Amino acid sequence: MTIAPQTADLAAIQTAVEILRKGGLVAFPTETVYGLGADASNPEAVKKIFRAKKRPADHPLIVHIGRPEQLSDWAQDIPQAARELAAKFWPGPLAMVLRKQPNVPLAVTGGQQTVALRIPDNPVALSLLNAFAGGIAAPSANLYNHVSPTLAEHVVSELGDAVDMVLDGGACSVGLESTIVDLTGTQPALLRPGHITPRQLEEVLQCPVRVPQRTTTRAPGMLEIHYAPKTKARLCAAEQLAEEIVQLQKQRKRIGILSHRFGAGAAADVFVLRLPDEADEYGHALYAALRQLDNMKLDIILIEQPPDDDNWLAVNDRLRKATAAGTLIG
Ligand code: AMP
Ligand code: MG
Repeated sequence: MTIAPQTADLAAIQTAVEILRKGGLVAFPTETVYGLGADASNPEAVKKIFRAKKRPADHPLIVHIGRPEQLSDWAQDIPQAARELAAKFWPGPLAMVLRKQPNVPLAVTGGQQTVALRIPDNPVALSLLNAFAGGIAAPSANLYNHVSPTLAEHVVSELGDAVDMVLDGGACSVGLESTIVDLTGTQPALLRPGHITPRQLEEVLQCPVRVPQRTTTRAPGMLEIHYAPKTKARLCAAEQLAEEIVQLQKQRKRIGILSHRFGAGAAADVFVLRLPDEADEYGHALYAALRQLDNMKLDIILIEQPPDDDNWLAVNDRLRKATAAGTLIG
């Protein structure tokens, strides 16, 4: 594997383009998280993504493009809503699901007749996309269900030689995966919350965006496990944290605390990592913090529950899925 230096230069971009043209895998920075990229028009290359991530083949990938004019290479029957959202938010952390062109490989779309598209807002990603001049299919560059990478070193430590090259663009500015909106139905529908909120989409579209009701019952099997650390992790209301810690200490557990308001000091068996008390800044720092705690050989990570308001929609979505396994076990 080649690791290109930060501020990936023209020579590194050219090498990456050659690897993509030959059907190889290139990890690259975006403003959301690092992507694991392959030539979206080459089904064999795309299959390598699924093998590297150990991801089931029916999970669709987002196709990244460099310019809005490329939309019609990948999508057909493009509604005016898509043009308006692209004009407002691209390049940016918004993926749109549209009807696919017949030539888009089913390997990319998980067998569906729709395709997700976006232009990322990152200089290295845009240099790569514009030099390649085609679509790059790229999910997050991590093993299936695990925490997404927000630094090049996360990709290197997790995927190693399964990737032909990693372009290092430093830390991802947003740090959470893109907002995904489905524009193939009668009403726009939010498929994944992200930095761009439903409210912002509605302001542009001047119509309501359907936001699926969140699963509040924490019944086993109801929650999709995703974005998860390997260490058991659990959400905990702020006012219950102190008591939880006492109980776990009695069981001689090594405890990690991810907090944004909670004021406990560290004890020998309690490690407190404090994140910002503002949703976007919290989201930016979240995955690196989860990885840091995951590397500390802890028995459990307790995550202080953030507020339940619209600003925290994307963060709360990721935290619910990251703790879904912990909920089932304990
Ligand atoms: P990732 O790139 O790993 O963050 O995941 C991409 C996500 O995009 C998937 O989990 C899907 O939920 C979503 N996605 C991609 N393509 C489509 C599509 N055609 N229809 C619905 N969702 C899609
Ligand atoms: Mg992912």
